[in-house]
Amino acid sequence: MRLIFLGTSAAVPTLKRSLPATVLQSSTEQWIFDCGENIQRQMMSAKISFHKKTKIFLTHLHGDHVLGLPGLLQTMALMDRKNSLQIYGPLGIQSFLSCCQQTLNFELTYQVEVFEIVKPGVIVEEERYLVEAVKSNHTIESYSYVFEENPHPGEFFPEKALAHGLPKGELWAKLQRGETVTLSNGKIVNPEQVMGPNRAGRKIVYTGDTMPFEAFADFAKDADVIVHDCTFDDALTSKAEINGHSTASQAANQARAANAKKLVLTHISARYPYAELLLDQAKKVFENSVMAEDFLIIELPLKEANSASL
Ligand SMILES: [Zn+2]
Ligand SMILES: [Zn+2]
Repeated sequence: MRLIFLGTSAAVPTLKRSLPATVLQSSTEQWIFDCGENIQRQMMSAKISFHKKTKIFLTHLHGDHVLGLPGLLQTMALMDRKNSLQIYGPLGIQSFLSCCQQTLNFELTYQVEVFEIVKPGVIVEEERYLVEAVKSNHTIESYSYVFEENPHPGEFFPEKALAHGLPKGELWAKLQRGETVTLSNGKIVNPEQVMGPNRAGRKIVYTGDTMPFEAFADFAKDADVIVHDCTFDDALTSKAEINGHSTASQAANQARAANAKKLVLTHISARYPYAELLLDQAKKVFENSVMAEDFLIIELPLKEANSASL
């Protein structure tokens, strides 16, 4: 899996930074967090598919986070997308999309399912992962999201399977799926006898626009990556509070409180043509901080060596 940053600016785009949009990608699926304007061209540049299985998560209904959505949906239709698409976010998304579709009079070639979040909690539960929403601390109703994979099965040892008298084939596959198997002679073999321990799944947190908030440390606990609002530097703390955003040190404190492994700073105000100042301030609090740039890629390998990626 990998994270690809398509837009890292706040409120207005700059020549270097497009509006907020981040993609989490596996080999079979992708998850888009926020949909700033110009997302289609950013996706083209980053070679992100318009046809792949996709879910979109919107943090809140401020223009810089959602104005790319109608254009993205139209582009997908013009490219003859067939796969259905799911969109999650706060109340109001359905009427925003209906209004755009009626006013602009466009048809879609695929099904769009909109899920408006009425209360925080798990909003997606799939076989291999779940997505949870928590209310963040912005000027309007707004959510942060955590993407959490289920544990991966441990490494399979063919030589152990053969030693137990298990021929290569369906019985191996059953054990790899975590099932116990019975041989024709009545012998029972459990997965633990031929496999290593489970490998932990990956945990990624995307805050959207937010000031620090109390529930965050629990919500984001032990995350592999936190992608956090970092609109202002520490000298503008009171401005951050008025506008419902975080400063560099506040973002870093959130990551430290959550015991995260890595922090990526994003949603950078256009007042900073160079964002080193913000990164320096964050690093003083949380060493493993990274400044997002458009098209930055963060690889998220499985935690143990010799493991296949999703
Ligand atoms: Zn914003
Ligand atoms: Zn906002």
